[in-house]
Amino acid sequence: MSTPTLFFVDDLAEGVPATPTRFHQADPAAGQINVMDLSVTRGDGIFETAGFQHGHPMALEAHLRRFANSARILDLPAPRLEVWRDAILAAVAAHEPEPMLSAKFIMTRGVEGTGLPIGWVYVFGGDEHAVERRDGIAVVTLDRGYRHDVAKTSPWLLQGAKTLSYAVNKSVLREAARRGADDVIFISSDGFVLEGPTSSVIVRHGDTFATPATDQGILAGTTQASAFAWLEQQGHTTEYREVRPEELVDADGLWLLSSTRCAAPVRELDGRQMPIDRETTDAMNAALLTRTA
Ligand code: PLP
Repeated sequence: MSTPTLFFVDDLAEGVPATPTRFHQADPAAGQINVMDLSVTRGDGIFETAGFQHGHPMALEAHLRRFANSARILDLPAPRLEVWRDAILAAVAAHEPEPMLSAKFIMTRGVEGTGLPIGWVYVFGGDEHAVERRDGIAVVTLDRGYRHDVAKTSPWLLQGAKTLSYAVNKSVLREAARRGADDVIFISSDGFVLEGPTSSVIVRHGDTFATPATDQGILAGTTQASAFAWLEQQGHTTEYREVRPEELVDADGLWLLSSTRCAAPVRELDGRQMPIDRETTDAMNAALLTRTA
């Protein structure tokens, strides 16, 4: 495995005192984070993971916009996106070239009591999802325990922000494994399809591709948005709407999408075989792997 690159973002947000450098490289093998940092003690912060295919950013601007939106939802200072963009590109340029690189960028609330956020970019190589894109995944549906309107009724629950509190997102994958599956589709407590723990859902019926509307306490997926742009170019109809679980069962195609995974076709849902449309899946992934927006 290649050595990751790490850059700290110094001039990272509005209101943060002036810094001599905008960003700087650091040693990922050395201890870097204060044990009192609120990301360590509370998971209090935000992150994004953007892919770079042969050095080209995949939808980086959409990731930066979502990063700023997550900061707003968590009442964190607004990140200076122009500094983050340059730091991310510098960290990728400093990495040994590989067909697929991932840039994970993080802003935390900082050390308790200081009120000073900290941030960094971490770039690593590898494409762990190549097999899923080809062979598909087995998925189970699990109750998320929130209604689909939770973002409107209870914004303090931070649904729809990409926070560092991903222990639940990981725990549901262990539950999936206990049930003999690879991944999960969350269903709201009032019976609407939401998203995966690290992915968006697209469901196909005939020529129409639908995804759950993003005002239901879910993340607006950058990969799903790129997939919809491509599907529309191909002459298909796309819809953001409320999706019911029964619609997944009789679908002509079902996919989980995320930045470095691209589109993984669902080959089994709650133990039932699902059709995989190989041609559409391969063409969609070819488009996603070369996307810039
Ligand atoms: N939903 C959740 C909860 C996620 O964590 C992610 C990505 O990690 C997504 C959706 C898909 O987002 P993107 O396509 O921008 O990676």
